[in-house]
Amino acid sequence: MTPVNSAIRSSRLTHDPGSGWQGPPGTFDLLEMANLQLLEVCERMNLSQDSFNMLRRFERVFAVTIPIRMDNGHIEIFDGYRVLHNTLRGPGKGGIRYSPDVNVNEVSALAMWMTWKCAVVDIPFGGAKGGVRCDPKKMSRNEIEQLTRRFTFEISPVIGPTQDIPAPDMNTNEQVMAWMMDTYSMGAGRTVLGVVTGKPLTLGGSQGRRQATARGCLFVAAEAMEKLGIKTRGASIVIQGFGNVGMHAALLAASEYGMKVIGIGDYRESLYNAKGIDVERLAVHAAEHGTIAGFAGAEIITADQLLALECDVLLPAATAEQITRMNAPAVRAKIVCEGANGPTTPEADKILADRGILVLPDILANAGGVTVSYFEWVQDLQSFFWSEEHINAQLKTIMTKAFRRVWDLAQKEKCDMRTAAMLLGVKTIATASELRGLYP
Ligand code: GLU
Repeated sequence: MTPVNSAIRSSRLTHDPGSGWQGPPGTFDLLEMANLQLLEVCERMNLSQDSFNMLRRFERVFAVTIPIRMDNGHIEIFDGYRVLHNTLRGPGKGGIRYSPDVNVNEVSALAMWMTWKCAVVDIPFGGAKGGVRCDPKKMSRNEIEQLTRRFTFEISPVIGPTQDIPAPDMNTNEQVMAWMMDTYSMGAGRTVLGVVTGKPLTLGGSQGRRQATARGCLFVAAEAMEKLGIKTRGASIVIQGFGNVGMHAALLAASEYGMKVIGIGDYRESLYNAKGIDVERLAVHAAEHGTIAGFAGAEIITADQLLALECDVLLPAATAEQITRMNAPAVRAKIVCEGANGPTTPEADKILADRGILVLPDILANAGGVTVSYFEWVQDLQSFFWSEEHINAQLKTIMTKAFRRVWDLAQKEKCDMRTAAMLLGVKTIATASELRGLYP
């Protein structure tokens, strides 16, 4: 068997090899970043070139056109995607994001990360992701509903409770999932609860799903703090992002762990308070104003200063590629716990590792969301619903076990936590591939 050929590094690892990446300095095309991470572990594992080629490819890349009549009467056309990376261990699973940056390479990278993530927490799903390129902050509720319904209709042939199961992601929420479930169900002629997760509680949603990603982040952050001898009570945490993950992480860190949330930033403003921000009041402010900007109980700092605050835990929960080779040297956290997907570039990973900063990688740290999505899907299929205590206890068991497996592997292999998590994820999929064999 030919081992992975490192010469592949010099070629571009994206769908469209002709496209030169032109993002801000220090950033990557996300698919190239995901492929680089995969390549590194394949080299470390001595996996064959054939296996690498199989793992880096996508089972399906589905692109759709979504024409919507906007409130002003004019027809606008949006691009949407649903990408299935790998279904060796079960149906596709992964969120749908609405954002102006959505493109096929980004959605594909996120789909690949879902494959590794589901394998790391050992739930029986493959990796998928979807998205629509749009700016939901500039759209009305009616326009978002029309967009969601037409997008769902367009991707209906490729989604389904045993095929591929969407969920919320950046800028999508329970209401969007309710519209998706309704649209799919209308086409099917019956209510199909298990087609999406992250739904409202009254429509087959699960207790604890809303907080699940944040809760999972804190479970692994607490485990890591214990390993480093940091007491959680009174420990300082800085959070980038105040969406579903960032907001719930702030609330839970303060209420359940007694941590001090000393910095929080969103798309408008970054805030600092050495004594700890009153996050309950901040959440009320953000619900009223749609942003944390204008909150009185903290000092305004820049987005760069936020990431450079001295703290025990830095939790990036906004978007990809926030910690790059440009700002990684300034990070002064002991632990970086990735609530977002892909917030740290491969170059920044190396800088943080050299500086002794422990990075809890996205495919481990933020896996609480998809884990409770799994619980929701099981509950929907069985039409039997569990209590919040039961959900949170099961989530804790899964997250803690995954953390320990990754931690132990990192010690054994003398590598960082991302490499260890990738080793675990990739090994699981490679084994599944070998056991299933090639059809026909
Ligand atoms: N969008 C979330 C993630 O990136 C959740 C996916 C899901 O629940 O299927 O993990």
